[in-house]
Amino acid sequence: MKKFEADVLIAGSGVAGLYCALHLRSDLKILVLSKSELTETDTYLAQGGISTALDEKDIPLFVEDTLKAGDYENKVDAVNILAKESIENIMELIRYGLQFDKHNSGLSYTREGAHSVNRIVHQKDETGKAVAETLIAEAKRRSNIELWEHTTMVDIIKEGNRCIGGVLMKEGEIIEVAAKDVVLATGGVGGLFKKSTNHRTLTGDGVAIAIKNGVELKDADYVQFHPTVLDRGLENERRFLISESLRGEGAILVNSKGERFVNELLPRDEVTAAIERELEKSGEKCVYIDISFMDSEFVKTRFPAIYQECLKSGIDMTKDRVPVSPAQHYYMGGIKVDLNGRTSMENLYALGETACTGVHGKNRLASNSLLEGLVFSKRAAKTINETADKIELVKEGKGYTLELDKKAVIKELKGSSGKYEDELFSY
Ligand SMILES: Cc1cc2nc3c(=O)[nH]c(=O)nc-3n(C[C@H](O)[C@H](O)[C@H](O)COP(=O)(O)OP(=O)(O)OC[C@H]3O[C@@H](n4cnc5c(N)ncnc54)[C@H](O)[C@@H]3O)c2cc1C
Repeated sequence: MKKFEADVLIAGSGVAGLYCALHLRSDLKILVLSKSELTETDTYLAQGGISTALDEKDIPLFVEDTLKAGDYENKVDAVNILAKESIENIMELIRYGLQFDKHNSGLSYTREGAHSVNRIVHQKDETGKAVAETLIAEAKRRSNIELWEHTTMVDIIKEGNRCIGGVLMKEGEIIEVAAKDVVLATGGVGGLFKKSTNHRTLTGDGVAIAIKNGVELKDADYVQFHPTVLDRGLENERRFLISESLRGEGAILVNSKGERFVNELLPRDEVTAAIERELEKSGEKCVYIDISFMDSEFVKTRFPAIYQECLKSGIDMTKDRVPVSPAQHYYMGGIKVDLNGRTSMENLYALGETACTGVHGKNRLASNSLLEGLVFSKRAAKTINETADKIELVKEGKGYTLELDKKAVIKELKGSSGKYEDELFSY
């Protein structure tokens, strides 16, 4: 068994893990882990964009849209912070070199379901790739950040209710890392579902670690299904998303007879429910998204990645309707955190999709996830920066286990009413 020391150990190389790392003090030694390759994150897959208040005046409306989509189960303080701190974080990404699409001399804002106005910045239909590449490049420039790929955190090390490090598995070897602070930014739970847009490797590991260490969860059975995922009739592969921004730009949803059956810009849960009703009624397996009536050059340049992916399945979306059905997409619940990413265990933080800040309530508003990853990771980094000097590194760890218990996570996802029984793997 190997030993290693760091000031801050971060599990996850998505927007949450990396943005936190980039905001930590340069005199802190930081270790960032990725279970597979650095780029194999849901961050990299994000298509539509990042929500942001347009200006001070738009903040109340942005807050209201987020609360309404979340069925008013959101934590209002967290939503206010999300909206108020949105612009500064978008500006920061631009300072790192990310080039969002432009309209005249300003940013181009698009729209997605349940937003009252166009307020989503994007880079074509590959915003996540641009975010991931920008943050990875910036992290590689920092001499205090080490990035370890193919390294899985399997447990934390604790002393009473204080986290003092993490246990890693790297190429079959166990590594004990002593750290002042540990951050769980391990992404979502899509790998536990048969049909999901998420990477198959994302199996709620942070949540599994929290469960086995008695760290509090919140809204653990709140899962979002995306209404429009390319339906190629294939089983057990990652599903390709047909971004909501297509509907934001005017695409419509129709059944096999070409009839519209829903307002395409309702919140995701409502559009998903309408599709499920339609499928039950017709006995068919999919409905269709249609953008073929729009200018084909616009479609190809605005959605190049989606256009190319559909072509691979023999669908030219400038001419054909695209078969879609709902699939698991996002985890609103997770490890309960305060407004600075702190969990119920001392010196243990949770960020991004793994965490439940309460921002999303019952249903996430489109494109609020990357923003949550930015806003709350920066806040957590600030708290870590202010407290790190008071924490002593404890080098002796014990009492951990090497198993990540997927069944325990599945039990939480099902909740007391046994939800998602048919959608989840059983293991
Ligand atoms: C197809 C798709 C499109 C999307 N589009 C949008 C969009 O347009 N706008 C938007 O706001 N949101 C979008 N989302 C949601 C958003 O991308 C994610 O919620 C967000 O990127 C999650 O970021 P994260 O940092 O929490 O996790 P991720 O980016 O998923 O990163 C998780 C990291 O944790 C690591 N990890 C996991 N387990 C372990 C472990 N045990 N040990 C060590 N490391 C571990 C992984 O290797 C990975 O590095 C989309 C999601 C998908 C799947």
